[in-house]
Amino acid sequence: MISKKAAGIAPYTAGEQPRDKKYIKLNTNENPYPPCGKVVSALTGADISRLRLYPDPRSTGLREAAAAKFGLSPENIFCGNGSDEILAFCFQAFFDPFSKDVVFPDVTYSFYPVWCRLFDINYRTLPLKDDFSVDVSGYIAPAYCQGVVIANPNAPTGRALPLMDIERIVSGNPDKAVIVDEAYVDFGAETAIPLIKKYKNLVVVRTFSKSGSLAGMRIGFAAGDKELITALVKIKDSFNSYPVDSLAGAAAVAALSDGEYFDEHVNKVIRTREAFCAAITKAGFTYVPSSANFVFVTHKAVSAETLYRGLKENGVLVRWFDKPRISNYLRISIGTDEEMRICAEMLKKLAGQA
Ligand code: PMP
Repeated sequence: MISKKAAGIAPYTAGEQPRDKKYIKLNTNENPYPPCGKVVSALTGADISRLRLYPDPRSTGLREAAAAKFGLSPENIFCGNGSDEILAFCFQAFFDPFSKDVVFPDVTYSFYPVWCRLFDINYRTLPLKDDFSVDVSGYIAPAYCQGVVIANPNAPTGRALPLMDIERIVSGNPDKAVIVDEAYVDFGAETAIPLIKKYKNLVVVRTFSKSGSLAGMRIGFAAGDKELITALVKIKDSFNSYPVDSLAGAAAVAALSDGEYFDEHVNKVIRTREAFCAAITKAGFTYVPSSANFVFVTHKAVSAETLYRGLKENGVLVRWFDKPRISNYLRISIGTDEEMRICAEMLKKLAGQA
């Protein structure tokens, strides 16, 4: 009754979403600030009677708005129900099952290997350097490779690659798709979207969940050459014609229209991140330089597992991955100044007890 695939697959494990509000929640890289007023107006002013109709299957309004913002044509944009869904479509649209390897770092977003296994796509991981930076030379057209996936900034490390290095990977693989997952790019990295006009093999995947404060709406988009976008539409239309609901589409258009609110709150998160890094450094912690809305933190004397459990007992939820190379690190999302002050204090206490 249960397929071999469902019985055998090890799914992705998302961070906890506790139902009570007693935790300071720094475990899933959500934005601590609410969506902008324009989003609130778009949702509260929406004509609810129109929900009886299916939404636009091509999300034309959002594609036009995103294209205008990034100097592209709507034909270069594909919208989906969060970037996880878009990435899953990308794996099916650009990679063949039972074929050559898709290549990504050994430490990266742990959903990539799950999609490979789900879709029977072979993959190979290349080790990050000791400082968790990507060794770009390994990604230049290895014979065994059918495509590349790079999160920039990377997760869960937060470390970004300069645009020049992304371009080396894209130009070095001219006949293979290179997917750049820019979920966190607004917090300090350079977007590869301008390269889309130059390279036919690049697809950039973006989300409204982090810098856009819309994780609860599930909305994102991909930008790429028209031919890649057409392939994504074919996969979508073979799975679900209407992944983006009308309200999510309207909220995303409104979020894109308020650049001032966006810049202010992204900069606030960046400032809080820098203050938090300075505070924990004083308490003997080290961290990977972050261009994201989280920091990857370690302490030389106290294990990350002890810290994770200690924080949780005291009402602060962070993410700890019990995985090779990173089991002594915590990924701590950046919340408000007050939340991060409490978190830093608690880390200091926990480390002081060692
Ligand atoms: N890419 C990366 C690197 C992420 O960390 C996440 C969030 N878990 C996503 C994509 C997916 O985000 P969403 O589906 O909310 O757009």
